Amino acid sequence: MAEQLTAKYRPQCFAAVVGQDPIKKALSRAAQEDRVAPAYLFSGTRGVGKTTLARILAKVVNCTKAPTPEPCNKCPSCMAITKGTSPDVLEIDGASHTGVDHVRKLREDVFLPPLNSRYKVIIIDEAHMLSKAAFNALLKTLEEPPKHCIFIFATTEVEKFPITIVSRCQHYIFKSISQKEIEEHLKNVLKKEQIEFEPEAVELIAKKGNGSIRDAMSLLGQVLVFSENILQAKDVRMLLGLAGEELFEQIFKSIFNSDLERLHNISEEIRESGLDLSFFLKEFINYWRNLFLLSQLGKKASSLVSWKGESLEFWLKVAQAFGESRIHLSWQMVLEEAKNILKGTDPILSLELVFFNLAYLPKLVPVREENLSLEVEAEKKNEINNRTIDRQIESRENNTEKNFREKVKSHPLVHKILEEFDARIVEIRKLNGGSK
Ligand SMILES: [Zn+2]
Repeated sequence: MAEQLTAKYRPQCFAAVVGQDPIKKALSRAAQEDRVAPAYLFSGTRGVGKTTLARILAKVVNCTKAPTPEPCNKCPSCMAITKGTSPDVLEIDGASHTGVDHVRKLREDVFLPPLNSRYKVIIIDEAHMLSKAAFNALLKTLEEPPKHCIFIFATTEVEKFPITIVSRCQHYIFKSISQKEIEEHLKNVLKKEQIEFEPEAVELIAKKGNGSIRDAMSLLGQVLVFSENILQAKDVRMLLGLAGEELFEQIFKSIFNSDLERLHNISEEIRESGLDLSFFLKEFINYWRNLFLLSQLGKKASSLVSWKGESLEFWLKVAQAFGESRIHLSWQMVLEEAKNILKGTDPILSLELVFFNLAYLPKLVPVREENLSLEVEAEKKNEINNRTIDRQIESRENNTEKNFREKVKSHPLVHKILEEFDARIVEIRKLNGGSK
């Protein structure tokens, strides 16, 4: 399914490629004006459209309608290239053709005119894997390129490329695809496949794709094998090893209540479930970031966080209970520790320590005088009308803020963090139209 889906929705013209607008425009114009370069270098991380654009370029220059800005995808040449059967378009995997012999053979080939196309196009994928001797042999060809030939090098590691080769290529740097662009593409595919979906499910897959459209499509394919007719967030989380919102609720409650036993058990549950730890940490950092926005902007932050309805109400409560200072310190702590956790010999043990530190934070620096619990906070919210409690929380917040600051200002480590914190609050309040 994953392979099928990727192949079925592989873009066949410039307009259908996701992202990379300036590159698409430049290549399409060059094709239309019949001013293609003898050598191109496409660099960028995996799955951002390098090979796809190389194939489209091969097609557009050889289309029977050429010169044209887009391939027609109907003529025999376009169809042969789509199927991968054109004798004039060679796709070479640099990783398995590193030797100089392959390149020598290639050099002989390129001097022969194309069989039934305008151009011979040689696409070398993962080209940085070529050996030094192979690069030297190629350089000779690039110095006097045959007129009917176009080289396209695609690479994820351009820094390994000899500068002599780079300088002979038109170099395009591919950007990672934005989360939004990936989401839109996935939603289009799902609509065309007539599969219903929860927006959160699509968001998770796009996030896990991490800027790569190919990875996101392949994950979508994997998940669809198991989902019938409707793509649900809970299925995506289960299949891709991602933590659910319930787990984060448990973690934040346990941190708030300094429940070390529960935090230990949660750490072990994470170990046993084989969760994707790197993705978990990204989400955990994001929770603190979202809580900070909620503590600053209240409901106005709803467009900046992914929570809606009941879920938004719950996390607003959590943000109020923790308070902005503690959230900010915790956020910074998790952000700094995330790298160490993944590098450690036992990442789960390191994670457990971070949980304990987060729970222990108020004892290190007394953040709150009152011993509030999330439940008490919730009850109060029901009893008293919203405006009163908001005012109460605000005044309590200000009091504890003041105490907290006085107590910790002498601590050098915290002092620095607080300075940054103040600067950030000023920025956020400015963004918020100078209110408060
Ligand atoms: Zn055509």
